[in-house]
Amino acid sequence: MIRIEALRYRYPGQREIAFADFSLSEGEPWLLLGQSGSGKTTLLHLIGGLLRSQQGQIIIKDTNISGLSEAALDRFRGQHIGFVFQRNHLISALSVRQNLLLAPYLAGVRQDAGRVEAVLEQLGISDKADVNVRELSYGQAQRVAIARALLNRPTVILADEPTSALDDNNCDKVIDLLLDASRLNNTTLVVATHDHRLKHKIPHQINLTQA
Ligand code: ADP
Ligand code: MG
Repeated sequence: MIRIEALRYRYPGQREIAFADFSLSEGEPWLLLGQSGSGKTTLLHLIGGLLRSQQGQIIIKDTNISGLSEAALDRFRGQHIGFVFQRNHLISALSVRQNLLLAPYLAGVRQDAGRVEAVLEQLGISDKADVNVRELSYGQAQRVAIARALLNRPTVILADEPTSALDDNNCDKVIDLLLDASRLNNTTLVVATHDHRLKHKIPHQINLTQA
C-alpha cells in the first residue's frame, strides 16, 4: 500500500536524511515516532507529494510517485491523500463549512456540499457548521481539520503531530476520531508524533531515530 525504498532527502545546506525502508498494508494505522528534527514532517511531506524525493522510491497503491510529473503528482495528491497538519491551517475569518468548501476549490476538485455535511456529521460537528473558525476550541478546530482531510475520501491520511498541543482528554478524542475515520473509510493512517501518549493507541510503529 505504502512502500518506501532507499529514500533520502537533503534540504539545501543541511545534512542528508536517510529513511529506513518500510512497507505498510492498506487500512492499517501506523505511528511514525522520532524526536524533534528526526525527519517525521519531511517524510510525511515526501509521502504526500508536497516534497519531491531526491533519491529513492515512494510507492503508493502501485504508483511510484517519485516518477510522476508535477501535474500528475498534484492530481494524485488530490485523489489519494488527506493531510492533517501540525497547525490546522484553517482560515479563521471563514465558517467551518466555508473552510471545508474551500479545500476542494483550491485543489481544483468539484465541491460537494453533501459530502461536507456528511463528514461534519461523522465527526460530530454539524452544529458548528456556520460558526466562525476563530470561535472554536483547539479540539474542535482539530476536528474540522480532520473533516477536511476526509473530504476527498483519501486512501491515505497523513497526520503531523495532530495531538501535540492538546490536553489528555482532547488528545484521546482526536486520535480516536482519526482511528475511527480510517477504519470506517478503510484509509491507511500515518500519524507522525513525538507524543508518547499515542504509543499504546497504535501498535504498528516506525521509529525514525533507529533509521
Ligand atoms: P521532525 O518533524 O521530526 O521534527 P523535520 O522533518 O521537520 O523533523 O526536520 C528534519 C530535519 O530537516 C531537521 O534537521 C530540520 O532542521 C531540517 N529541516 C526541516 N525543514 C527544513 C527546511 N524547510 N529547510 C531546511 N531544513 C529543514
Ligand atoms: Mg515535525
